[in-house]
Amino acid sequence: MNDKPLSTTDHDRDSAALQYVYPVVSRRAGGVSVGINLNPNNACNWRCIYCQVPGLSRGTAPAIDLALLEKELRGFLDELLHGDFMHRRVPDGARRINDIALSGNGEPTSAAEFTRVIVLIARVRREVALAESVKTVLITNGSLLYREPVQQGLREIAKLNGEVWFKLDRASAAGIQLVNDTRTSMKKVRDNLIAAIACCPTWLQTCWFALDGQPPSRQDEDDYLEFVSALLRDGHKLQGVLLYSLARPSLQPEAPRLSALSEKQLQAFAERIGKLGLPVKVSP
Ligand code: SF4
Repeated sequence: MNDKPLSTTDHDRDSAALQYVYPVVSRRAGGVSVGINLNPNNACNWRCIYCQVPGLSRGTAPAIDLALLEKELRGFLDELLHGDFMHRRVPDGARRINDIALSGNGEPTSAAEFTRVIVLIARVRREVALAESVKTVLITNGSLLYREPVQQGLREIAKLNGEVWFKLDRASAAGIQLVNDTRTSMKKVRDNLIAAIACCPTWLQTCWFALDGQPPSRQDEDDYLEFVSALLRDGHKLQGVLLYSLARPSLQPEAPRLSALSEKQLQAFAERIGKLGLPVKVSP
């Protein structure tokens, strides 16, 4: 391990010199997030135009070396809890473990071993006696949640006091094609989201930004609000919305066309979402 202090902009997945496990100081949560990257091959089934993964390619997670992942997770949690990593690498004020986050350089649920990974996390958490307040979070584009084994994994996450952050950047097929570079229908997105909600407490995570200087249109906002309110009307209980703009530069060819929205612009949309009765957390 190196001795370079971690900052809230340091998301280098190699910063702990491990294959699957990496630390991130979360600016949102004010603590260390223990990241698990199931896509060390930088492959995702989507290609969001704001994606920050270097050398992103289309594809799925490779076979996961579960024994290595378990060794890395146990060793790293042990170091955080009993070693001097916090003092050497983490700034004052952020020296606490905030969560274990399945979030990496691609879509984590594309790993064939996904459910076994969650069972492994549960076992390691128990062994190192990690406090229940340390959540286990799955950050997902949601596109594979129709698969039964993935749903099984979500049920296991729920048992860990965990949550799912389900990506919804636009609520029209055309908008998703534009922003996430994937073809889908809103029926499929809705079915996947309903599956997530049925298995585990679920937040929407929404990246809202300007393209060619233009913020999302009123129609984009209306599509989103209509989609969410229809879900709520039908009794599907979302936890809320995590609304953010571009935290770090895109590494996609569209990067020069993207720009962050102001906090005021984000707040204006957050207010409209809030009128649906949902909590909204905004990160500019
Ligand atoms: S879903 Fe995540 S990893 Fe995949 S392309 Fe989008 S931002 Fe990148």
